[in-house]
Amino acid sequence: MLVPDVREKLRRSGYTLTSQRRAVLEALSKAKGHPSAEDVYLIVKRENPRVALGTVYQALSVLEEVGVVGSKHWAESPTRYDLNVEPHLDIRCIRCGEVSEVPGVALGGVEEIIRNNTPYRVTRATMVVEGLCPACTDS
Ligand SMILES: [Zn+2]
Repeated sequence: MLVPDVREKLRRSGYTLTSQRRAVLEALSKAKGHPSAEDVYLIVKRENPRVALGTVYQALSVLEEVGVVGSKHWAESPTRYDLNVEPHLDIRCIRCGEVSEVPGVALGGVEEIIRNNTPYRVTRATMVVEGLCPACTDS
């Protein structure tokens, strides 16, 4: 998502693009895979040594609220954040914790089926998958 789009999404909910929120977005784009709030914090901290973990949590929560950032939660793992807010499937390794996107699964179709078959308006749908990554399978 481009900076003007992020700014517009924040503005519509009465927020602004603060330097902390921008630093969190930059950290998310630098992070590999699907970082936890703590991973994001460690990246932000490299350039802003005085940043607090609570500030990062708050920024992530606002960015998620306005639809700029997505989050997913697997059992026994902290919430993972993602700049990809389109419906997509992620798989997490139960041994090393690595999260990867699964290509070729159209989760948008699931939302459409729910829309067609229930009176609900879907506001949030996540599906989590776990497995063993190749590195962990071999060891
Ligand atoms: Zn693994």
